[in-house]
Amino acid sequence: MGRKMYIETYGCQMNMADTEIVLSIMHDAGFDRTDFLSSADVALINTCAVRENAEQRIIGRLGDFNHYKKSNPNVVIGVLGCMAERVRRDLMESEDFVDLIVGPDEYRKLPTLIEAARDGERGIAVRLSRIENYDDIIPLRTQGLSAWIPIVRGCDKFCTYCVVPFTRGRERSRSQANVLQEVKEVAQRGFKEVTLLGQNVNSYWDDTNDFPDLLAAVADVDQSLRIRFMTSHPQDMSDKLIATIASRSNICSYIHLPVQSGSDRILELMNRTYTADHYLNLVRKIKETISEISLSTDIITGFPTETEDDHKQTLGLLQAAEYDGAYTFKYSPRENTKAWSMIDDVPEEVKNRRLSEIIDIQRNISLYRNRTLVGQTVEVLVEGPSKKSAADFCGRTDSNKMVVFPRNGDAVGDYIGVRIERANSATLFGTQEHAFHQPHAIIP
Ligand code: SAM
Ligand code: SF4
Repeated sequence: MGRKMYIETYGCQMNMADTEIVLSIMHDAGFDRTDFLSSADVALINTCAVRENAEQRIIGRLGDFNHYKKSNPNVVIGVLGCMAERVRRDLMESEDFVDLIVGPDEYRKLPTLIEAARDGERGIAVRLSRIENYDDIIPLRTQGLSAWIPIVRGCDKFCTYCVVPFTRGRERSRSQANVLQEVKEVAQRGFKEVTLLGQNVNSYWDDTNDFPDLLAAVADVDQSLRIRFMTSHPQDMSDKLIATIASRSNICSYIHLPVQSGSDRILELMNRTYTADHYLNLVRKIKETISEISLSTDIITGFPTETEDDHKQTLGLLQAAEYDGAYTFKYSPRENTKAWSMIDDVPEEVKNRRLSEIIDIQRNISLYRNRTLVGQTVEVLVEGPSKKSAADFCGRTDSNKMVVFPRNGDAVGDYIGVRIERANSATLFGTQEHAFHQPHAIIP
């Protein structure tokens, strides 16, 4: 019997992808994954540090890990990821049951640190690297439909509110050849979708190829493979990239294009390097060039000095951009960032009210956008049973919309046509019309 490791993951898709790298490293070191904390020899928590409330949730959960360690003193407890990087020594001092603290660029050291921890040595490895890409590690993927493939690690943008450049280090890209190799492998294993990941995929550069080059090459590996990517910084959204997305039917018509605020004054304070006008022109160009494109965004409300007028400009931008969805956050001050030195002067109740106004407006826009699909037949990749009813399946459109429909003999991984009958702001509902027959051409 191999030793058992348990891992929980918090935060963004990049963290989910990192967990698959950790699983691979640990598997090679002789550990099998368990889904139960109560049977773990090693218990790891892969953390997020982007907002204070994410960190608080993780600290709370670490209490359960501590509880488990009291009943099983031999278990090795490790904190990984962005929070490990950010609060390192504090964490070591305040949480004395934690044996390991390992940042995002040091996962190769895990097996050695675990062995040392079993001999009673607490370990800390938080060096950030300018080159670590885990290029040679084949991630241990836990499902077989959709694969995350990191292409850029770190971030050089230094938005003034954001801790990521400090927890994940400087930007570095994998080579195109290496990414293509991984895409071919997942296609041959029967995956139906890949998502190319980076804090800003648009700035991908491997000394020869830019992101549009990579995206086109990835899409040409297998025309039946859906290609997604995130996140796109508006400043680096080139005409070449827009044309590339439009040029291939298997590159999904969906772009996550965070705007953060509709006020030029706040955008400047955030160091986002574009104005609202520039951003809306970009949205116009994207909508004109890519048919049936779906857009989503991130918004931060209550950034220091944000006035009612700034907030109204954000509401106006939401109306003008007509997003299909938005992820909305209250500003959370983060140590080390430039905005940390600004006074967090928007009161909590004002942040809450502005947030709910943003959510209300966006919900109406999403509903309106979803309703335009009623009566149409959309192509859906079947993902599995719907959460609410075992009689229904769910899947996503190429534009990343969730569709729920009665089961009708189809299987996970099938492409089917679903005629949309009704919609709410988050989900489309319909019935299956026919199976899609996709071309399947793997380029050797
Ligand atoms: N790189 C991506 C980008 O540029 O949008 C995503 C980075 S971050 C993990 C995801 C989102 O969290 C950001 O787009 C931003 O809206 C939000 N965020 C980052 N720092 C924040 C902070 N200090 N307070 C509130 N929200 C924050
Ligand atoms: Fe953070 Fe800005 Fe980089 Fe996104 S682009 S990870 S928000 S610094």
